[in-house]
Amino acid sequence: MDIKRIVLLLFAGNSIFTIKNEKTKNHYTFRVKKPRSAAARVWNISVMGPYNNWLYMFTLRNGNYHFSDWYSRVKPEDIRVKAFIWFLNALNRERLPDKLSVQFSNHCCRCGRRLTDVESIKANVGPECRKYINTER
Ligand SMILES: [Zn+2]
Repeated sequence: MDIKRIVLLLFAGNSIFTIKNEKTKNHYTFRVKKPRSAAARVWNISVMGPYNNWLYMFTLRNGNYHFSDWYSRVKPEDIRVKAFIWFLNALNRERLPDKLSVQFSNHCCRCGRRLTDVESIKANVGPECRKYINTER
């Protein structure tokens, strides 16, 4: 998948994806979710915890990271925060290492609904959301 497509899907509204270092097999699953009421360029970033639960990490707002003493479930120095920020920086530079794989879940990256048909799973977006995915940010 090319980097522009990854960025498009990543910020589509409700994306879930796993990044994996194919050498070390280290991997993390993240969710990038636009709050319903939020203005443009605001996303809540969570990481999947050990019991498949979502741990809120921070809010990405206009490219800045905002941690909350009350709501953040991980510390800024947590390896999972560092991994996410490292990944975002790599996307910004449009350079991903060969050993890194990116896998989106079988949920629509825009609305989060589970995808069932082959075409939608390939596109990572459901039929309704596909109309919007290339035009909005
Ligand atoms: Zn959708």
